[in-house]
Amino acid sequence: MKVPAVKLLILNLRSSEPASAMPHGGKRVKRKETFWMACDSTEQLRAEYGPFRTREEAEAQARNLGFEFLLRYEHVLSEEEKIVEVHTVFVELPAAEESNSVTCRFHTRCASCGECSVHEEAFRAEVWADIHEFEHSRHRVRLFEQTRAAGLKEIANWRECA
Ligand SMILES: [Zn+2]
Repeated sequence: MKVPAVKLLILNLRSSEPASAMPHGGKRVKRKETFWMACDSTEQLRAEYGPFRTREEAEAQARNLGFEFLLRYEHVLSEEEKIVEVHTVFVELPAAEESNSVTCRFHTRCASCGECSVHEEAFRAEVWADIHEFEHSRHRVRLFEQTRAAGLKEIANWRECA
């Protein structure tokens, strides 16, 4: 997971992005290059994953890996394409819908009216369903289990076996 050579990665990035794309205004044109990494902490010793061209890609990968930070690299390049300045900015991801401590959640959704809710414990889902089905006769609540690996998965016949 460690990224050994950022410089190498940048070269790879650039191979698909011709230098002609940059504007040539004055004599001393400096070009700025930005990319994103997913990372697990802001410490010196951290795992980084990437690079990504867009924040969205990095964020999606970070969420996949359970990482909580993004690192934005800004390189200021000289005319000779040498890195003259490096800026790094850490971005903390907003709390994910499912945090690290919660690996499984229960989603209830009424098949009749579409009302839905999310619960961290199975019994709360049951209580929600009980109340809903009590308040709305002939409504039927479906239960979904959400796990990091499998996403949403319906638990069929759950009311029958309760
Ligand atoms: Zn309903």
